[in-house]
Amino acid sequence: LVSSLIAGTLKAKVVLIEKDKMGGDCLNTGCVPSKSLIRAAKIASMAKRADEFGFDQVKVDFDFAKVMGKIQDRIKKIEPHDSVERYQSLGVDCVRGEAKIIDPYRIEVNEEVICTKNIILATGAAPLVPPFKGLDQTRFFTSENLWQLRERPERFLVLGGGPIGCELAQCFSRLGSKVTLVEAASHILTKEDDDVSNLIQDKLAGEGISFFLNHRAKEFIREGSQDYLVCDNNGQEKKIAFDAVLIALGRKARTKGFGLQELEIKVSKEGTIAHDSLMRTNYPNIYVCGDAAGPFQFTHTAAHQAWYASVNALFRPLVSFKVDERVIPWASFTDPEVATVGLNEKQAIKDKIDYEVHRYDISELDRAITDREETGFVKVLNAPGKDRILGATIVSPNAGDIIQEFVIAMKYGLGLNKILKTIHIYPTLVEANRFVAGNWRKSRVSIRSLNWLETFHRLRR
Ligand SMILES: Cc1cc2nc3c(=O)[nH]c(=O)nc-3n(C[C@H](O)[C@H](O)[C@H](O)COP(=O)(O)OP(=O)(O)OC[C@H]3O[C@@H](n4cnc5c(N)ncnc54)[C@H](O)[C@@H]3O)c2cc1C
Repeated sequence: LVSSLIAGTLKAKVVLIEKDKMGGDCLNTGCVPSKSLIRAAKIASMAKRADEFGFDQVKVDFDFAKVMGKIQDRIKKIEPHDSVERYQSLGVDCVRGEAKIIDPYRIEVNEEVICTKNIILATGAAPLVPPFKGLDQTRFFTSENLWQLRERPERFLVLGGGPIGCELAQCFSRLGSKVTLVEAASHILTKEDDDVSNLIQDKLAGEGISFFLNHRAKEFIREGSQDYLVCDNNGQEKKIAFDAVLIALGRKARTKGFGLQELEIKVSKEGTIAHDSLMRTNYPNIYVCGDAAGPFQFTHTAAHQAWYASVNALFRPLVSFKVDERVIPWASFTDPEVATVGLNEKQAIKDKIDYEVHRYDISELDRAITDREETGFVKVLNAPGKDRILGATIVSPNAGDIIQEFVIAMKYGLGLNKILKTIHIYPTLVEANRFVAGNWRKSRVSIRSLNWLETFHRLRR
């Protein structure tokens, strides 16, 4: 969508080929339905917490099927943004059909051949479903078909503790399923620092989700009419009963069935389509972006790469732009949210980068207190002895919005001092960013200078 929009806007002749639904994963099975469900689940959770606000009781009666059905009206509302009509009006020729590359200059679709100067591959990714023994005999869901579910599973098993697994586990738990989350690693949200993963795990466990960490799924079995997942926990076997299971074990780039192998277009060892810093594959006129290119799997990084792929395809060799992947933010939309940009401690240690860390706990923040949302923190990594920001992680409500201040700061080289000296509206959650900068500043004040100040004021009395 983004690549073709840029090309259309720049008055190039562009054809967008989509085999399924316009809007791809994000609109139809990813960001939009998941965020809509998160909102509905939040209402159920707030009702449960009503007594904290002085209400005797707020009872939420609901029909699970209706709540799931309501997600579709959000998709419908956003659909026009990604529609064929909108894209045609912006100069993009939209073709519905499955594309196959015949050679670097020809694409076959609906038994017709389109000749082209450049190709951009934006084929996305699909849920990774390992061939577990017995899986085909069970009621299993992925992020692709979960949205058709209309009957609430009593016991909902989530396999995988990444962002998708955690977001959806919390939703189903809040909507009344007994949720069990199984994760092979020792932590959920493994990309995040351990203090972040632990906080989210504690929050989810406090809401009633059971965790089996260090449990590697082996196979699915049925005994009578009961389904079980069999896992390995350091050599011990564990059987977990469930009514429905969500496989959330990651997503694999779509690289097969459209001519890559025939053309010997290279695939990386991570399974994404290999590309250089101009987003070119091993064919100089075939570009790639989004989940198919990796390593990120976000809508905003897909759009970012799409700009480079499009502009390079349209204007090389006159100009070339190397993709700038220095400041990449992302969020997991659990409650509280987790948002990260740049380095966290785990990555800094892995990359052997020296850092200082400063933290501010939002339990001290006025707005978090008024809102009764006091769980979370802001953590900033800076270059030792300098105010240069290396990375930030925020765990709080709306962390995905609040992180943006650090994204801009990092992108344009603004340090913690500049954040500290900027007025932040009171009372807001974003004030936490200024307070963490304040903690950094305080850590730099020497005892000697404080003693000197004390003497100065004494002398002026
Ligand atoms: C449950 C869930 C929640 C998510 N939440 C977020 C979030 O909150 N924020 C975020 O940033 N990201 C989120 N994501 C990830 C986000 O959806 C993806 O990163 C994004 O959609 C990638 O965009 P893309 O254009 O690369 O691929 P896609 O959106 O997958 O689009 C690829 C398109 O290519 C089409 N296609 C493939 N092969 C062919 C062919 N041969 N011919 C024609 N068409 C073809 C497919 O039908 C598809 O429509 C989420 C994903 C999931 C599953």
